[in-house]
Amino acid sequence: MTEPTPTIGTEPFSREPLSEDRLNQLVAALRPILGDDQILLAKTDRYNRARVPAPFPVHRWSERVPDVVVMPTSTEQVAAVVKVANELRVPVVPRDGGTGLTDGAVPMRRGIVVDVKKMNQIHELDLVNRTVTVGTGISMLKLNERLAQHGLFYPDDPASYPCSLVGGRIGTSGWSLIGSRYGHTRDLVLSFDHVLPTGEVLHVGDGIGQKISKSSSGYQLKHLFMGHQGTLGIATKATLKLFPKPEAELSPFWAFDDYEAAHACTGALARAGVATFAGAVLFDEHKVAYLRRDDEAYIPQPADVRALVCAVMYGYEDEVRAGGKRLFRIAKEHGARYLGDEISEGDWAARHDRYATPLHGRTKDGQVIPMSWHCEDAAVNFSNVPAVSRAWHGILADLRRKTDVFDDWGMFAYTSASTGVDYLTEIDVGIWEQRLDDAAWDAWVQAKREIAAVAIAHGGSMSACHGSCREGEVDLLPQELGKGFDVMLEVKRALDPNNVMNPGKYLLDRAYGRDTTDEGR
Ligand SMILES: Cc1cc2nc3c(=O)[nH]c(=O)nc-3n(C[C@H](O)[C@H](O)[C@H](O)COP(=O)(O)OP(=O)(O)OC[C@H]3O[C@@H](n4cnc5c(N)ncnc54)[C@H](O)[C@@H]3O)c2cc1C
Repeated sequence: MTEPTPTIGTEPFSREPLSEDRLNQLVAALRPILGDDQILLAKTDRYNRARVPAPFPVHRWSERVPDVVVMPTSTEQVAAVVKVANELRVPVVPRDGGTGLTDGAVPMRRGIVVDVKKMNQIHELDLVNRTVTVGTGISMLKLNERLAQHGLFYPDDPASYPCSLVGGRIGTSGWSLIGSRYGHTRDLVLSFDHVLPTGEVLHVGDGIGQKISKSSSGYQLKHLFMGHQGTLGIATKATLKLFPKPEAELSPFWAFDDYEAAHACTGALARAGVATFAGAVLFDEHKVAYLRRDDEAYIPQPADVRALVCAVMYGYEDEVRAGGKRLFRIAKEHGARYLGDEISEGDWAARHDRYATPLHGRTKDGQVIPMSWHCEDAAVNFSNVPAVSRAWHGILADLRRKTDVFDDWGMFAYTSASTGVDYLTEIDVGIWEQRLDDAAWDAWVQAKREIAAVAIAHGGSMSACHGSCREGEVDLLPQELGKGFDVMLEVKRALDPNNVMNPGKYLLDRAYGRDTTDEGR
């Protein structure tokens, strides 16, 4: 590896707002590119684009507010804005739906937030090759409303489906609830236009093809420019793979007397090789207890229900019926009790809105308090799911002994692939945001570090879908990636010589000879 280049600008490493002179200089440079209504300087416009889903350190909100927000409408405008940012050494942060759970869209070093929500057009629908080309500011919900008119759908289906956007899915390399059948964001996005940190534009896909799903030509650059959390540039226009809108959906929910049987059943369902199988979800005892205790949408089950499993199938009516029969047989062999059509259909249909409702948790002595939801995720092999679950609940129990600010809301494990090889494991944490202070925050960051360490110790990855650049977990990135982390630094420095693109994430300041890990904590 080569020696780091010396620090060039100051803003990409500073946490201070731009001085009035610098801000005026920046806005003057943006005016020829954008209309007045595309440059937002008001306090509310800027503060609202600092916020992300919990846990957000509300007591330190003002430290992360951008100096200016821009809302471009084309790739050319995005490129011109980034060019200005690079020339003036001002940080620039891409933001789509703002639902990311690892602080990716938070402007840690302030600067310009590029909000791409106005780039939400459908540019081309190719019914013959089954692709659609869209601006990256469109949501899957809106896109699918249009595609339904043609009997098609785009099956990227996160729990944040109505509010996360195609560009954010690319920036995080997202995970889809029905990915075991249709693939995840990386499989569904065929190609995209991408603005580099210097303002140059390139098209990445498999090879150079816009609508090609497999090429062996050159490096696989599409994957480099996905999941980088906005640190390598901004995707502006993407071509996506489409599927026939499924005729039938089957989502049976089964109850179990114990977690071990439910875990074994989940594995057996996934390994069965049923072609319409789109995923299985395992709810552990803590999750069932939380649902029974505090989730108003949940229909309480008898006390002997200790764990739940859901399997989901999509396809034509006849193939789903046949596959369903086989999965019901497997579930029965594992001691499952079917919860009935109403619960099964209702619970699966609610998968996108569970966290939209007001939530509450409990203090240790049982008092009900308002809490917001957060989840920590990891990618773990099937055989390691029980051990990781036990260790994670232990970490939260320790945290809860120290403070009432956090509550354990249980765990899910979801199949990531049709063979059931690995699972997205997620522990849901209730957070009493109004009570967060520096001590509680430090305890939380330490717990996150421990949660990430457990996943790595079990041969897993710290994140299956959200990314891992938040305080706490990010400290373990060099450990997880090994030599790969050095390569990340090299790539970052080569493509972003001035560290303007979303600085302060993924320990990438180290590429410029600065270790800012503990600064500002
Ligand atoms: C209730 C809830 C449920 C969730 N469920 C899931 C789930 O099932 N699966 C899952 O994968 N995630 C889930 N998430 C997390 C989140 O929705 C995803 O990470 C999503 O992909 C983020 O999309 P966004 O449009 O909100 O992006 P943002 O939060 O705006 O951005 C995410 C990251 O991508 C970068 N970025 C944004 N736009 C671009 C762009 N155009 N080009 C390049 N980089 C860009 C940002 O800088 C940031 O680092 C959930 C979140 C919530 C709140």
